Amino acid sequence: MGISVVGLSKKNMSTVLVYDIVIVGGGLSGLALSIEMARKNYKVALLEKQSYPLHRVCGEYISHEAWPYLRFLGIHPEQESLPVIQELIISDTTGKLLRHSMKNKGGIGVSRYWLDNRLVDIARYSGVDVIDQTNVDRIHATPTQYRIETNTGFTYLAKAAVACYGKRSSLDKYLNRTWFMERSDFIGVKYHIQYDYPKDQIHLYNFEDGYCGMSHIEQNKSCLCYLTTANTLKKYGSIETMEDEHLSQNPWLRKIFLQADFYRHKPLSISQVSFIPKDIVTQEVPMLGDAAGLITPLCGNGMSIALQSAKMMAVHLSLFMEGKYSRTDWLTKYEREWKSTFAFRLWAGRQIQQLFGKPSRTNPAIAFLQKTPWLTSALVRATHGKPF
Ligand SMILES: Cc1cc2nc3c(=O)[nH]c(=O)nc-3n(C[C@H](O)[C@H](O)[C@H](O)COP(=O)(O)OP(=O)(O)OC[C@H]3O[C@@H](n4cnc5c(N)ncnc54)[C@H](O)[C@@H]3O)c2cc1C
Repeated sequence: MGISVVGLSKKNMSTVLVYDIVIVGGGLSGLALSIEMARKNYKVALLEKQSYPLHRVCGEYISHEAWPYLRFLGIHPEQESLPVIQELIISDTTGKLLRHSMKNKGGIGVSRYWLDNRLVDIARYSGVDVIDQTNVDRIHATPTQYRIETNTGFTYLAKAAVACYGKRSSLDKYLNRTWFMERSDFIGVKYHIQYDYPKDQIHLYNFEDGYCGMSHIEQNKSCLCYLTTANTLKKYGSIETMEDEHLSQNPWLRKIFLQADFYRHKPLSISQVSFIPKDIVTQEVPMLGDAAGLITPLCGNGMSIALQSAKMMAVHLSLFMEGKYSRTDWLTKYEREWKSTFAFRLWAGRQIQQLFGKPSRTNPAIAFLQKTPWLTSALVRATHGKPF
């Protein structure tokens, strides 16, 4: 257990706080890791740039494999009346449907607003100092500790720091991550809607240059979330026109945009969504969740990967904190395990995504999968992991 010392740094007169572990970014991976380490009695600070509670752009379907770990963290999906999803319906760009049972592989629908906020409560209860509205500007590894500088005038020193800051952050630029300079054309858009269809289904609607997922979440709502390109948006000038004139060429999406009740008229949106492989450890800073690599959303298990990477990190980090691993052992063993567990799934997700978004490829592929359910099962298996 570390001690917290408050002092003034001579260099820039910022207040210095000392922790055992500082976690940068309070999404799923950061929250899960902070809970694990606080339960082991380490003094943990979780720094999050936004303020809780918050909505995020995400399809909000969490695959079955994460259930045991969610229970370990303190969330029991079966007691929360969350919709259990067991059937996948895929529509090609013309509206033709493929149905596939996911009885052993499905998941649950839950909003990130609900899930992340519940984890924030558990983290605080477990003793984590959850510090939101704090942007981390720099992380620097010295031979004995990490120095984390923020925009609030506080500098944090810790034996260990872990980066859980998601798909893209100014920190990527600061840490000189090479892929950061490659621009990505993908954008994501999300709504919460009310729409009538069976609760146990997840729908994936294709349209030119993108796809849109829909599944139930808590309180009879559904999440409608799509990925498309900035170029397509530019062509139509606004999200609304793009939905009316482009996405609505898929008859199922046309029906949804006409008939569903939208909870907020304005959607949440993000840009520069990139799926290119990333470095798992950068300048002695280990990456978790999307900071280490984002799986294409059509696979529906980025959240599970974020949680599993936290579980994996907790084991290696504990050995480092106990003095059984050197820093090099900690970082190299985590990196090796991350690659052997996730690299193939992320690669498979990128290959499958190439089938989507181009009617000349998507429509024959869906027609073929319709006739070969074993192949659809194999694709679902390739992108989903075992329960952890
Ligand atoms: C369009 C789309 C749809 C998706 N749909 C699904 C789905 O249906 N199912 C699924 O499982 N996954 C889905 N995903 C993926 C899933 O959302 C992510 O994999 C998951 O959120 C990763 O969690 P994380 O902890 O790595 O990052 P996040 O949850 O993104 O959290 C990162 C946090 O770090 C904070 N942060 C960033 N920079 C700083 C900084 N400098 N200082 C402090 N804080 C910082 C951010 O504010 C954020 O809160 C989807 C992704 C996209 C883009």
